[in-house]
Amino acid sequence: MAQEEQVEIPDEQPDKVQREGKSKTKKSYKSGGNIFTAFLSQFTLGVSTGYGATFYSHNLKGFGIYQPANGNGVFLFDQAFIDRDTLPSVYNNWVNNVQGFSGLLIPVDSLSSPIITNGIPVFPGDLKIGSDSVKLGYKSIAHNIPFTVMVSIDVDRYRIGGGVSMELHKMSRFNPTALKNSLRSFRTDFSIAFFKKYFGFVGITTYESWQYKMIADLQFGKINRGKHFNKDLISSGLYFNFGYTIERSLSEYFKVFVRPAVEWKAYTLTVPESGLTVNHRQPTLYVQFGATIRMPVMPRCPVPGCHIQMNHVHDGKEYRSKVHPIWKWQDPNYGQNYPQLIKHKRKNRRKINPY
Ligand SMILES: [Zn+2]
Repeated sequence: MAQEEQVEIPDEQPDKVQREGKSKTKKSYKSGGNIFTAFLSQFTLGVSTGYGATFYSHNLKGFGIYQPANGNGVFLFDQAFIDRDTLPSVYNNWVNNVQGFSGLLIPVDSLSSPIITNGIPVFPGDLKIGSDSVKLGYKSIAHNIPFTVMVSIDVDRYRIGGGVSMELHKMSRFNPTALKNSLRSFRTDFSIAFFKKYFGFVGITTYESWQYKMIADLQFGKINRGKHFNKDLISSGLYFNFGYTIERSLSEYFKVFVRPAVEWKAYTLTVPESGLTVNHRQPTLYVQFGATIRMPVMPRCPVPGCHIQMNHVHDGKEYRSKVHPIWKWQDPNYGQNYPQLIKHKRKNRRKINPY
């Protein structure tokens, strides 16, 4: 108690203890830090997580759908063979890792060996529909949980940076968008994929106040959809993610943010030996929450027992207060650090003299 009452006197004269950027008689001091920390302090490190919904759709032009009465497959076939009773090939698993079938094993009786058909015979009760007569397709919503790490630098109103994102991508059932009564729904041969993204981004500040900053930004990069999406059959270009970041400063160095975003991505799946491709679209809506941290330019005050609560000077070099952790304001306005009177704090409620 007695210690707390002591008033700390800085080594320098009080009039030299300046509040950064606020004093008219500001005298600039050399930061107590080195050039390396000064360089690192230009960069902001951010982490975020959240939720995303991916809306799968595709273009099945050039294909027909073959749905056998027995079994549960939903196969594609080349539309050119729509009038045949036997299809040369049908294709399963055409969302992520297409497989072709060009013959059936038909057991005749238990003694003789089974017949292998040349092509897939279309039996009565099987469904065979071409995409020239009906706009065929299936839709599905996948659920995403992204984990993102990024580094950025602000230059005036602009922000540039880059990052990586790991994403848990949970598939759900694909339902037909046409002929809903006769076409069945289907699932992919996997339920969870891990997406990896590498991106760069550019942003522009649209609003800025003491505590808030709003930035419209565009991320663009490459996506790796993981082992369930056959890389030999899939090609995909850049993806684009347009978002709006709303940032709240909890201190000079620590911020929290929310970022709603819309993402455009697609890929092309090549169906082997057919010369045909399926174009799959995966637009996604996201909301992410995160925090960013920046290394302070100035080191913490090294003087033992110094309780100064703002940036200050010792021996001609400027330090930040050692009283505040970096997630609190370093250079607070009056009442910001201790908005509650000490005598009203619960731990002091029985003390006659809480100070
Ligand atoms: Zn000090």
